Amino acid sequence: MSQRHDVLVVGAGFAGLSAVASLLDRGMDVVVLEAAARVGGRVESAVFNDGTRVDTGAQFVCDDMENVIALLARYGKTLVHTPMAGESVVQPPGRDDDEAYARSRALRLQLRGLNPADPALAGLTVADWLAAQSVSPDTALAFRSTVEGLWCRPIGELPLWYLVSNDRRITNRQTEIEYFVGETIHSLAEDMAAALGSRLRTGHPVTRIATGPDGVEASAAGASIFARQAIVAVPPVMASRIAYEPGLPPKLSAALGAWRSGTVIKALVRYRRPFWRDEGLSGLVAWRDPVGLFSCDVSRDGPGATLVVFIAGPLAQSWRQGPEAQLRETILEKLAAALGAEAGNAVDLIVRDWTDDLWCGGGYGDTIFDMQARDAEDILRAGFGPIRFACAELSPSFPCYVEGAIVAGRAAVEAMSCRQ
Ligand SMILES: Cc1cc2nc3c(=O)[nH]c(=O)nc-3n(C[C@H](O)[C@H](O)[C@H](O)COP(=O)(O)OP(=O)(O)OC[C@H]3O[C@@H](n4cnc5c(N)ncnc54)[C@H](O)[C@@H]3O)c2cc1C
Repeated sequence: MSQRHDVLVVGAGFAGLSAVASLLDRGMDVVVLEAAARVGGRVESAVFNDGTRVDTGAQFVCDDMENVIALLARYGKTLVHTPMAGESVVQPPGRDDDEAYARSRALRLQLRGLNPADPALAGLTVADWLAAQSVSPDTALAFRSTVEGLWCRPIGELPLWYLVSNDRRITNRQTEIEYFVGETIHSLAEDMAAALGSRLRTGHPVTRIATGPDGVEASAAGASIFARQAIVAVPPVMASRIAYEPGLPPKLSAALGAWRSGTVIKALVRYRRPFWRDEGLSGLVAWRDPVGLFSCDVSRDGPGATLVVFIAGPLAQSWRQGPEAQLRETILEKLAAALGAEAGNAVDLIVRDWTDDLWCGGGYGDTIFDMQARDAEDILRAGFGPIRFACAELSPSFPCYVEGAIVAGRAAVEAMSCRQ
């Protein structure tokens, strides 16, 4: 009979890594099974030809995200202020962009002010709600671009109650792009994993979890792993692909099936110098058309400069249809139209298409698409027998952010301890 661990953690993203850290603090014997060959999940990095390392997944944090800020400090990471001096640009320029964006921000506050439990919201999508607001077409486009840019799904598919509930938990007063991490936020995940030694097994996708009187038995890469309890720290869509034996209760199955992965492509564009600053521009560009496109400056002090570009929601789905060379050309063309012809002279360009990612799904977070699934998050948080679910999506604060993943991972351990 193989060793029986106290807890099996499935997934070494920030939810899994934070859960493991809490379990180890409590003196538990833990094993972590990670499907990919690396840790971090939706936090990942790559290196430009000139040796500069950049985050190709999550990148930004702000002071309001206290758990991730504390972890970064504990591991000695450097917070770099996102360069924002100068004018931001709206594409294409409208007659009164400041007014349209101010109205769009006001719309978001209005939406947050709704009560997600209000029965009047039943059956409405975010698109239905937007159509009922008396706002200019430019304001409506700016709002749609913000929502599809952040939630990575078409607004016609997002239940209104879900967006209200989700957005009310994103409580930052500072801009969420206040800082990025000099060494990359991915290096934090690597540092946290380094302490795990042989407790961490990468390249071990869990395909089946069987529960019995003694706990759980997981199947991964031809091995069986036994533990008294399990924390499934993967996004809901990925958790729904694991076979559970005996089958999950129907309510839990329905709760896992209520989610859809998002679609996002992240591009990092390297230049010799931050040429946009010559014209007094910040490098921040918000596109109303196409909807779901955004860029900003993530240059560090020293030689070279970097712009990050996000292509989110239906736009990512559309732009990924063609060859990658065309996608790269389109990105540079859009930047040149917004910031000047020099934007076409990139010295390096990293494109990371997260859409349909084998182990993470696609967007910043999975979103609920089932209009009836109002209790899906509570059902998943409650878990089932010896199994708990933890991922950024289920966090009571900052869902679908690294901060939320940390909170959710720790909360799953708390819930598990209460059960013992
Ligand atoms: C392009 C992009 C940009 C983002 N930008 C930001 C940002 O600037 N700031 C921010 O705070 N957040 C950002 N996010 C969101 C943030 O990355 C996520 O919310 C957070 O990292 C999710 O952590 P998690 O642990 O819940 O899930 P994940 O990171 O998805 O981790 C789950 C892990 O489980 C593994 N796994 C899946 N299935 C299995 C299986 N069957 N068996 C074993 N292992 C499995 C996966 O490989 C993965 O490692 C961004 C995300 C993306 C994609």
